[in-house]
Amino acid sequence: MLPEILKVAEEYGLTFNPRSHGKKETLCKCCFCAEDSKAGKGHKFYLSLNTHDQLFKCWFCGVSGGVLDFETKLSGIPYADIRIKYFGVREKPLHPAERLNARQLRTIGWAEYKRKNRAAFKKNREAVLRDWNRYEHEELVKHFAMFIVIAHIENQAERQNELLRYVMQSCQETQIYLMFNRVLAEYVKYDMHRADWAIEGAEIGRAAWRASLSTCDFEMNEVVVNVAFLYHMWKMAKKRKVETNKESLKTKNKVSLAN
Ligand SMILES: [Zn+2]
Repeated sequence: MLPEILKVAEEYGLTFNPRSHGKKETLCKCCFCAEDSKAGKGHKFYLSLNTHDQLFKCWFCGVSGGVLDFETKLSGIPYADIRIKYFGVREKPLHPAERLNARQLRTIGWAEYKRKNRAAFKKNREAVLRDWNRYEHEELVKHFAMFIVIAHIENQAERQNELLRYVMQSCQETQIYLMFNRVLAEYVKYDMHRADWAIEGAEIGRAAWRASLSTCDFEMNEVVVNVAFLYHMWKMAKKRKVETNKESLKTKNKVSLAN
């Protein structure tokens, strides 16, 4: 059964407008935009809970949805797991594309699509998963590369810390679950035992480090730009390689057809 939105809000310690508490429309401070928590907005409560239909909407930032979305957003736990909490495990496991939450889908441009037409989304699950896997791979490579640069920096503890904070923050923003932990876990392995993305990332990271070393410039922006640039170059080279292979395959086929 669906949980009551009021109970969920209480559980997560939201601040209520006491006069509306428990009514059909219960108002609280919006914890998603926190606009009504700014100084001088003491009497404003932008987040509206519909306690009959178990819906929420913020009149300032526009965030809205059902009670399960609400708890997903508050807890950071994937939507599918929140569903399981109230409805139990499904007999048929969910397709991995269905396990992606709204924020993750937004990063790869599928969130609106799913919201508007669930049936069409279901048909495109394989494409969604491909997009997500590609996105995840790219982000892992780039962040691993940045981490390698940081690890190479010597005698500049402050710069190192600054970069590390940047990478941790950036890892969080990717919406990839436990991203920084995954980067760390690969880092402590020997090269040959590392995942593909870590091997690629290490290569790019070392090149970026050499680029920074040649100019003695470990400014954060510089390192980030170097990694992005080298990653782009590496991707282009890989694409060219694939295309050359395709071309030679085509030529081979033509030759064999001619024969
Ligand atoms: Zn809001």
